[in-house]
Amino acid sequence: MAYDLVVIGSGPGGYVCAIKAAQLGMKVAVVEKRATYGGTCLNVGCIPSKALLHASEMFHHAAHGMADLGVEVGAPTLNLPKMMAHKDATVKANVEGVSFLFKKNKIDGVIGTGKIVAVGKVSVTNDKGEEQVLETKNIVIATGSDVAGIPGVAVDIDEKIIVSSTGGIALDKVPGKMIVVGGGVIGLELGSVWARLGAKVTVVEYLDTILGGMDGEVSKQFQRMLVKQGMEFNLGAKVTAVEKSGAGAKVTFEPAKGGEATTLEADVVLVATGRKPYTTGLGLETVGVALDNRGRVEIDNHFQTNVASIYAIGDVVKGPMLAHKAEDEGVALAEILSGQHGHVNYDVIPGVVYTQPEVASVGKTEEELKAAGIAYKAGKFPFTANGRARAMNATDGFVKVLADKDTDRVLGVHIIGLGAGEMIHEAAVLMEFGGSSEDLGRTCHAHPTMSEAVKEAALATFAKPIHM
Ligand code: FAD
Repeated sequence: MAYDLVVIGSGPGGYVCAIKAAQLGMKVAVVEKRATYGGTCLNVGCIPSKALLHASEMFHHAAHGMADLGVEVGAPTLNLPKMMAHKDATVKANVEGVSFLFKKNKIDGVIGTGKIVAVGKVSVTNDKGEEQVLETKNIVIATGSDVAGIPGVAVDIDEKIIVSSTGGIALDKVPGKMIVVGGGVIGLELGSVWARLGAKVTVVEYLDTILGGMDGEVSKQFQRMLVKQGMEFNLGAKVTAVEKSGAGAKVTFEPAKGGEATTLEADVVLVATGRKPYTTGLGLETVGVALDNRGRVEIDNHFQTNVASIYAIGDVVKGPMLAHKAEDEGVALAEILSGQHGHVNYDVIPGVVYTQPEVASVGKTEEELKAAGIAYKAGKFPFTANGRARAMNATDGFVKVLADKDTDRVLGVHIIGLGAGEMIHEAAVLMEFGGSSEDLGRTCHAHPTMSEAVKEAALATFAKPIHM
């Protein structure tokens, strides 16, 4: 038997599982069909989008935020090729980092398409059509996800005019007008990038709110902020067609509840309606690995499929499609395979929208607590009352802490504001330890920091905030 573990897919789930397994003494190979390791996240997802979000925010800040602080730089000039080069260099450094970690941990990286041909056997076919078969005790399916498209609508994604997120991070000029189909995280992040660089961005979303599933109050306030930044929204709108039109494209939609159709034209249409698990050509039927009713690989509480020795993690299984969820599953699975007690706490997985301001949350929303009939207390604190936020001209947003009415245990924290994606982790650590809002409210926070707003929101659940 050549390997203890063959991992198919080198995204955050697969590569982290491989490294942890190797650290625990297993002989590991990772099969990847892309030319570079790192999966969706490092190649075309989290990392390149964050490079563009940061760079476009710098551009926007230079144009609109700095003069008020007494820093007058004149109108900034956009060098889009250079911005894209920064993004590409960031991706290159990250994917090369994964190659380095494979070598360091003596993991065999095999470039080619993996297929399970039998229990304990993975065939790998490279782009020259050459095939090799890897023998292994265990197989991990970490093949991630792919663009989902629009249910019931045939869309010809050419990645130039009608783009998915992959084309949306690689446009060669700023579109005059952009329509974003889908008001979820990816659509709003990439919509923000192009809006900051000068595009007129219109979002068309089926639901009545953006960021479906986020705390309702947060999502409403966030939408108001994006409108202030110039984005337009058509909510409760069902898209019925996306077609090329002249040099651009048009999107037709009608009210989700029924009614007259509207057609909008744009230079670029970004289809950001979600992602679906990717299991194409993997040979699952050969060995009888079962999928659930949403096409995800079915697993038990230990990531095992219905076939012993075949496991699955990340976007291809149930749960939020997030890189850090995939990573934590990778670590837990490697520990389980080496006889330890790997575990992921799905109640404490933070979610961040990396716009400006950022939106971050962990745990339950008010809507979820109400639906579950859980009595709770809510404490809120606005950044307008935070000294550091004032000093930085970053007073947009608030922190909301939700705690159990009887036990005071923190059940959810929601933040909208500058740096929310970093601030959320004190809440995550607290919740991991089953902490109360009083624990949070009595923890000394450095002054002046944005994080003091987290402490004050916690105080507001059981006493009164000091600065409000
Ligand atoms: P993936 O990263 O999708 O990796 C799967 C890999 O498997 C791919 O490289 C694929 O080529 C390979 N593969 C598939 N089939 C085979 C086969 N048969 N043989 C060999 N290889 C195969 N998440 C966050 O947490 N934060 C973010 O900020 C964030 N931003 C995002 C922005 C965008 C634009 C997108 C699209 C996604 C973003 N995500 C973000 C989601 C994140 O990318 C995914 O949750 C994460 O990549 C899932 O990891 P994974 O390991 O399950 O799969």
